[in-house]
Amino acid sequence: MLIVLLGPPGAGKGTQAKVLAKERSMLHIATGDILRAEVQAGSELGRKARTFMDRGDLVPDEVMIGIIQQRLSMSDASGSVILDGFPRTVVQAEALDRALSTLDRRVDKAVFLRVSEPELLKRIAGRGEGRADDRPEAAKRRLDVYVRQTAPVLDYYRSLGRLAEVNGEQTPERVTDDLLAQVG
Ligand code: AMP
Repeated sequence: MLIVLLGPPGAGKGTQAKVLAKERSMLHIATGDILRAEVQAGSELGRKARTFMDRGDLVPDEVMIGIIQQRLSMSDASGSVILDGFPRTVVQAEALDRALSTLDRRVDKAVFLRVSEPELLKRIAGRGEGRADDRPEAAKRRLDVYVRQTAPVLDYYRSLGRLAEVNGEQTPERVTDDLLAQVG
């Protein structure tokens, strides 16, 4: 089983993905966490990624595709997986399909965590985790980038008949219940 969790920044993807992974004993792969670990470690990749991340821009597709290919080919990823933060572009979604087909796997379901834009702006304003990409300018940029580059990924999975949707404006517990029902 391989699930992709999609949604705008501030929808609660990370929090929900962690709960789902625990409840269903799935491996949680969050590309944002992988990148932040590289930044922390001061690696070449981290230094390269950081400028994009701090601005609220996407890290280039070829970099991200390399990261996800490597992560999915590790032995602990051979069971059920929940992907959080990848794919974020149609190019990434297509590359993911290709990478998975070489492993004899596929995206079983993409679940969209729907939250309206006014609600997102409210959440972002009240968040203040202290992360550079949560500053108002970067947060707004992340929302713009989502609308332009990531929203088309929804159509990609919809056209394959693999898109499901959950209302992300409910209490966190109800969102979890709905997600669990989708994951099965
Ligand atoms: P996240 O924690 O998922 O919000 O990711 C934080 C930041 O990491 C994003 O704003 C991007 O700059 C970068 N990032 C994470 N995943 C991807 C991806 N799949 N493609 C491009 N950039 C990514």
